[in-house]
Amino acid sequence: MRSISIFGATGSVGEQTVDLIQRAGGAGAFRVVALTGGRNLARLADMARSLHAELAVCADPADLPALRDLLADTTTETAAGPEAIAEAADRPADWVMSAIVGAAGLVPGFRALRHGRTLALANKESLVTAGPLLLAEAAKHKATILPVDSEHSAIFQALTGEDITCVERIILTASGGALRDWPLEALAKATVKEALAHPNWAMGQRITIDSASMFNKALEVIETREFFGVTPDQVEVIIHPESLIHSMVGFHDGAIMAHLGAPDMRHPIGYALNWPARDALPVARLDLAQVSTLTFRAPDLARYPALRLAREVMARRGLAGAAFNAAKEIALDHFLAGGIGFMDMAGVVEDTLTALDPEMGASNLPEALEDVLGMDHLARVRAGEIARARAGGR
Ligand code: NAD
Ligand code: MG
Repeated sequence: MRSISIFGATGSVGEQTVDLIQRAGGAGAFRVVALTGGRNLARLADMARSLHAELAVCADPADLPALRDLLADTTTETAAGPEAIAEAADRPADWVMSAIVGAAGLVPGFRALRHGRTLALANKESLVTAGPLLLAEAAKHKATILPVDSEHSAIFQALTGEDITCVERIILTASGGALRDWPLEALAKATVKEALAHPNWAMGQRITIDSASMFNKALEVIETREFFGVTPDQVEVIIHPESLIHSMVGFHDGAIMAHLGAPDMRHPIGYALNWPARDALPVARLDLAQVSTLTFRAPDLARYPALRLAREVMARRGLAGAAFNAAKEIALDHFLAGGIGFMDMAGVVEDTLTALDPEMGASNLPEALEDVLGMDHLARVRAGEIARARAGGR
């Protein structure tokens, strides 16, 4: 029986992972080792109970007594806090889902790789902030990383059986997000509610806003460069409003392989769960006659400054990915709290990168996880100052 752990089980990706596990037979088909969640203790406890999890871990130590009460009549052990989450990754499991959102997902993924596990990686921040370290860790321990982000799963599938040296370009598709058709001048006044109205994908709140600003695509461009080992200029972005092509790979003989399917994260999650097999999945089938048209347009960089910033981060590499991601998270917090406007998010990130230029050092590669975490911390502090100054000036 395969053993599995899910980090971020109560989130959007986590819930869909649990759904697939339940459909495949739940506790009768898998040995569920660890489940972790943030604030939603009731949901975490429900999952742990129905999947007979060995361990349930919540993010905040203050919540431990409540989680313990919820699971008092079960054999599930309970724990809490970042260290307990990292330790949960030390427990033997064949397959580990990394679906905590943000930089908090970095350490548990690393710990799972150290044990040579198969890591299904939804947490894109891991590759953005520490890509070379993560891949080196996987290689060192003969661990496997399977991409779960839909674009990267699509690229991974298009590359199966191909030689990466024959790849000319990787074309990431982007929906353009909720504000895609707004006039440029109106974007500065967009509210959280408006930015949350994603046209195609149902996702967590943070990634949906990042989709409207294309900070999500910016992270994915960097993620692509790191995971597939291509050069920055080989990675392109195209707006594809229907979100039916999940990405494309262009080869040096002129062929382009496109991956199509319904926009449903259970496809890439299920692909990673069943890999290397391709098992049946409960996702909608495309009726192409009904779809009839697929459209594309080039992204306007004035509308999406995050894409320009991603290019700068890739040119700089080293700790720039950690600074970029952390500044983006803080800018997003301030936008969600109403302190800064939608377009100010890119301004905060850009100013943070400029302010931290001397601290980023000359190295082209991050040297240790501690350096990445140190830069993450520094960038959060600096971005917070910059965001508050902007909020005061509004
Ligand atoms: P989400 O916000 O819905 O869920 C995040 C999970 O992490 C929850 O279980 C939450 O409780 C937990 N969590 C949050 N902060 C935590 C902390 N500090 N410590 C421990 N646990 C914490 O997010 P999501 O949309 O499921 O995304 C998860 C990851 O997958 C992100 O990195 C995201 O970019 C990536 N991703 C998501 C989608 C999607 O469709 N949702 C698609 C592609 C990639
Ligand atoms: Mg994606």
